[in-house]
Amino acid sequence: MSDRAPQRPQLRDDLVRMEGYHSPQIDVDVRLNTNESPFEPPAEFRAKLAEGVAQLHWNRYPDRQAVQLREAIAKLHNVAMANIFAANGSNEVLQSLTLAYGGPGRNVLVFEPTYAMHSQIARVTNTGVISGTRSDDHSLDLAYVSATMRQHEPAITFLCSPNNPTGMVEERETVEAVLAVAGEFGGLVVVDEAYGQFAPWSALELVNEDTALVVTRTYSKTWALAGLRLGYLVGPTWLVSALEMVVLPYHLDAATQLAGTLALDHVDVMEAQVAELVEERGRLAEAMADLPLTVWPSGANFILFRPNQHDGNAVWQELVDRSVMVRNCASWPGLDNCLRVTIGTRQEDDAFLAALTEILT
Ligand code: PMP
Repeated sequence: MSDRAPQRPQLRDDLVRMEGYHSPQIDVDVRLNTNESPFEPPAEFRAKLAEGVAQLHWNRYPDRQAVQLREAIAKLHNVAMANIFAANGSNEVLQSLTLAYGGPGRNVLVFEPTYAMHSQIARVTNTGVISGTRSDDHSLDLAYVSATMRQHEPAITFLCSPNNPTGMVEERETVEAVLAVAGEFGGLVVVDEAYGQFAPWSALELVNEDTALVVTRTYSKTWALAGLRLGYLVGPTWLVSALEMVVLPYHLDAATQLAGTLALDHVDVMEAQVAELVEERGRLAEAMADLPLTVWPSGANFILFRPNQHDGNAVWQELVDRSVMVRNCASWPGLDNCLRVTIGTRQEDDAFLAALTEILT
């Protein structure tokens, strides 16, 4: 026997150099940092779920095809079940897409600033990342976008609409132009619509069997179910069946499938809550316009802003000191000094406004 201590396995070299994705979970009174819904899902939903969970056959594997859930989602979007792929949060949907269409020797294209997990998932799956940029107003310059796509021919081009963390909704013409260029070299276009219900239009209307487009959605925001971990995509059937190659058997547990199905019985509640948050977004944006801040227009359930005369990191900390947490984007690419606040209840937003006013004035 050797008297040397056993050696530890070495992490993959490329992972050692990587920074993970972190969003601090601090115990504060007002949590406006991860774009969750401030509302609980309906009581009737919770009661039906508890009943249903009690009757599940826990000794059996769940339905591998998640038929009931996918049929319910398909009905919601007026498509076929074969157009729906569901997974544990839209992050797992994005990861499955990148596993299937990215990988070594292939690239994804993102336009910063955007949702950090698009590039993070690419790196973890050993896919190259081309980091494109946005114009100063955070919009996409189509000539630049097309040239970058033609230069790199990315396997996947990620768009995010409304974009996290800027809040900007992409124009339909932009998505159509990106699709046309991707079609020249067989690229896949993913439109991440985690906040799609807050926006005036959806790329869902562009999904069809002949276009390499998928739109991803989540239960985490508008459905008030971030605790559930469920997301899905709507896309062409050939793409949905290709994802079977990468997804683990029985990846969606029976309780998640049930909860996701039952939640869709309450579309009216969800829509009313979205309307309430959109109205509250307007009220908050108006109030923030009176403070020494740069505030960007938003089509989502959050607002990006930059203190004009104060350091963003310091403002973030001073908000935490007042038991209000927003997202600190001050060190993100293209977002010097910026912070992002999730739209909460009127009460939460008032607490945020009072704290921010105190800090800035
Ligand atoms: N896409 C975007 C743009 C997001 O902001 C988020 C959550 N922060 C996700 C996807 C992932 O959401 P989930 O995995 O909870 O569905």
